[in-house]
Amino acid sequence: MSEAVTAYVLLGSNLGNRAALLHEARSYLAAAAGDIVAESGIYETAAWGREDQPAFLNQALALRTTLAPAELLAACLAAEQRAGRLRRERWGSRTLDVDILLFGEEIIALPDLTVPHPRLAERRFVLVPLAEIAGTLRHPQLGDTMEALLARCSDPLPVRPWAGE
Ligand code: ATP
Ligand code: CA
Ligand code: CA
Repeated sequence: MSEAVTAYVLLGSNLGNRAALLHEARSYLAAAAGDIVAESGIYETAAWGREDQPAFLNQALALRTTLAPAELLAACLAAEQRAGRLRRERWGSRTLDVDILLFGEEIIALPDLTVPHPRLAERRFVLVPLAEIAGTLRHPQLGDTMEALLARCSDPLPVRPWAGE
């Protein structure tokens, strides 16, 4: 077993009972991937890239994991499958999306896994929850903290704390 690493993942949902789907994803990841050592609040954001869709709920988690990166990706994809996700068009609506944002300080370029997540710095819906739980953490390639990336982010989509349905 490898040494424990802190990985950051982003949960997203814009179909079905979004809050319940996030809750189930947290439970599944805690059992399958490692202890959740921090979780952000839940935020609501209009769909990015395709604005003709229902709004997303998003939440960032810090996971203390001994899984290898590819194993963590498999757990994320399994969580999506359990939520009944169907893949249709790119950036389409989904019951659950689980992206790996950061995996310790590792830089990973596998055919099916790029970490840090390549679109992290251009998405306010990622940076707001991530900066909440890891504001002073530095991006291993860009060198900036998550707070600094958020301050500089030009994404116009507002990210609002979610107060419940
Ligand atoms: P985006 O990557 O822009 O957020 P998306 O989340 O909608 O888009 P998906 O259809 O969920 O994209 O994922 C497609 C594939 O992306 C996954 O099957 C996975 O192999 C790959 N992938 C590459 N890097 C990552 C990462 N850091 N986290 C999760 N999946 C990744
Ligand atoms: Ca995504
Ligand atoms: Ca994804």
